[in-house]
Amino acid sequence: MPLRIVISDCLLGAACRYDGGSKPHLGCLRLARRLRAQGGERAVAPICPEMLGGLPCPRTPAEVRGDRVVRSDGIDVTRAYTDGAARSVDIAKASGARLAILKARSPSCGSGAIYDGTFSGRVVPGDGVAAQMLKREGFTVVDEELVKYCEPSFEHPVAIVLGSGLGALADRVRAVRRIPYEDIEGFPAEAIPVEGHRFEVLVGTIDGVPVVVYPGRVHLYQGYSALEVTSLIRHAHRLGCRDIILTCASGAVGDIEPGTTGIIRDQMNLTGVNPLASAACVAEAEIEVPFISMAGGYSSYLAEFARAAAQDAGAPLAEGVYAGLLGPTYETAAEVRALGVLGADYVGMSTVCEAIMAHALGMQVLGLTLVTNKAGLASNTHAEVLEEAERGGEVCQKIILGVLRYLGGSHS
Ligand code: SF4
Repeated sequence: MPLRIVISDCLLGAACRYDGGSKPHLGCLRLARRLRAQGGERAVAPICPEMLGGLPCPRTPAEVRGDRVVRSDGIDVTRAYTDGAARSVDIAKASGARLAILKARSPSCGSGAIYDGTFSGRVVPGDGVAAQMLKREGFTVVDEELVKYCEPSFEHPVAIVLGSGLGALADRVRAVRRIPYEDIEGFPAEAIPVEGHRFEVLVGTIDGVPVVVYPGRVHLYQGYSALEVTSLIRHAHRLGCRDIILTCASGAVGDIEPGTTGIIRDQMNLTGVNPLASAACVAEAEIEVPFISMAGGYSSYLAEFARAAAQDAGAPLAEGVYAGLLGPTYETAAEVRALGVLGADYVGMSTVCEAIMAHALGMQVLGLTLVTNKAGLASNTHAEVLEEAERGGEVCQKIILGVLRYLGGSHS
């Protein structure tokens, strides 16, 4: 099923706000138009929890009384919020969507920080009533600011780092500029690409979407530092990229079949190094302190695009936790058992430092891994991994292309 979304109606221009106005949002309008073009009218389900709760438009002033919000005419607004949120959840479930794009700071729709429900303009921490309920039902809830932030443009192209098996995607780039890796600040100039990698940045478009593609990387196991390994990420950030798709090959810790592409929902950095554990890196990344939270390190918003793209491609899609090890040896059977106990689903030798760097720089990270082998088998060889990566690469490539198609951009 193509990507479907639930969205606050005021973002699409409906005059349903407390003051009788709307809050049309260009990024949301463009996304909705694209999704409708790809999946028909049902691809977008507009909701206004407050109108669905029976509140009039415009609405009269309200005040906080204890734990309730009450209108000047005595109407219990809190109850209307709850009723409207429940009806919104019903609509959302019936729509088949998993992603809800809700207006920031609204006491019904907002998440993280919301107005207190009165006309005081006071912002308090927390989720709006509809946002809370949708999250409880398993929806991914984001606001319009994230939609705008992630929308590709020529100023903010999508960065893509290609791992083994995905080199062919580089051939789809209509490049307007090529940058040798040796010109990237901090990249080890003497590095030689491993098989299937190419050390030339491609700046251009894929199917009309602005991209910056890195068809190769260096690894810690080659003796490079976390600072060198993450130089591509800082380069992408300097070029204006806000979304980054990190791809890699991995071994399956559990039951995932080789040839399957998987979303990386979270990671364990077991490499023993961290790019932020270096004053030079912190300075280069221009972040004030290295103590950043890794919660949300992988974008749940972009993951929804990947899920829909996999469905469009008819491809099975795994989801799980990626454990990054130093390598270069493959894991022992005991290590694989230990990783399973720890909660890992995939294991590999890249990506984790890049994801840390990208998250520290404020980028939205989509992690995709191509499972090439069962980890811990005596028969694991590099040749086998490369062969399986080539076979499974085509499906992974289709998923990336689908994500780009959904992301579209401010030019589309
Ligand atoms: Fe917009 Fe939500 Fe407020 Fe309705 S309840 S006006 S959809 S923010």
